[in-house]
Amino acid sequence: MCNVIDGKALAEKIKQGVRERADLYEKKYGRRIGLAVIRAGNDPASEIYVRSKIKACESCNISSFSYVFGDNVEKSELLELIGKLNSDPAVHGILVQLPLPKHLDEREILSAVSPRKDADGFHVINAGKLFLGERGGVTACTPRGIIELIKSVGTDIAGKHAVVLGRSNIVGKPVAALLLQNDATVTVCHSRTVGLKDITLTADILISAVGKKHIVTKDMVKKGAVVIDVGMNRVDGKLYGDVDFDGVKDVAGYITPVPGGVGPMTVAMLLANTADGAFDE
Ligand code: NAP
Repeated sequence: MCNVIDGKALAEKIKQGVRERADLYEKKYGRRIGLAVIRAGNDPASEIYVRSKIKACESCNISSFSYVFGDNVEKSELLELIGKLNSDPAVHGILVQLPLPKHLDEREILSAVSPRKDADGFHVINAGKLFLGERGGVTACTPRGIIELIKSVGTDIAGKHAVVLGRSNIVGKPVAALLLQNDATVTVCHSRTVGLKDITLTADILISAVGKKHIVTKDMVKKGAVVIDVGMNRVDGKLYGDVDFDGVKDVAGYITPVPGGVGPMTVAMLLANTADGAFDE
């Protein structure tokens, strides 16, 4: 029988731990941990994500500082703000909500964030540390959350065949690196992969981060596999994952739902990264 992994409950547990650390920080230093959130442009999904991150800060006794810019924001305005936040002792984490308006170079803006305050773990230094297996870097939130979800059901990742669908810098590549660090045998698939189904059928752990509704169907999943659905696809106002949940749950051993799986874990890990940053000062 398939078990549904409750990402919401696990995220609450992690946030409870963050809250305890934030209270301890305040008691010890007489000030709160702080997260700065920068949003530029009018992407409606970004607005929702930022709102939920700010709300989560409140529940964890973390101060949030919100900066909102219009679509026409100049690169120099963002770089100036990030420079100030980098040296602000009240700010322990800086989040630049993606996507940024098209005229801005995301890599350039993300690289301006101090690697120590890079709450999202997207800075090239932190990505590099992850790939080299060096300690002391900040791990990207969604990949960190995915590993926690897999471990939460008692799966020993070592020696398993993990198949990752998607090779983006924010999910596919870093989660593949983390799985490798956990001694999985990792296959990364993308839009040019030939024979996708033959590969997914060999996966003990299948992670889909493609961004296409129900691209993973029942016939693509090995019996008993752990299936992690990262996809968030809005179709006619409704949210769908990459995985056809109703079909796949008949063959998978464990599966994350959408919503209520990876999404809440991403937010919890953002707060955990911010708290880690405060204690590493
Ligand atoms: P992305 O940058 O658009 O990357 C999508 C990846 O999927 C690309 O590597 C692409 O291959 C690959 N792909 C496209 N079609 C494919 C196919 N038919 N078969 C196999 N691979 C295929 O997306 P992303 O930013 O990683 O996000 C992926 C999804 O996760 C989105 O739905 C996003 O909203 C969601 N997401 C959720 C969270 C969360 O917290 N729950 C966080 C981040 C992202 P190429 O490289 O060849 O183009």
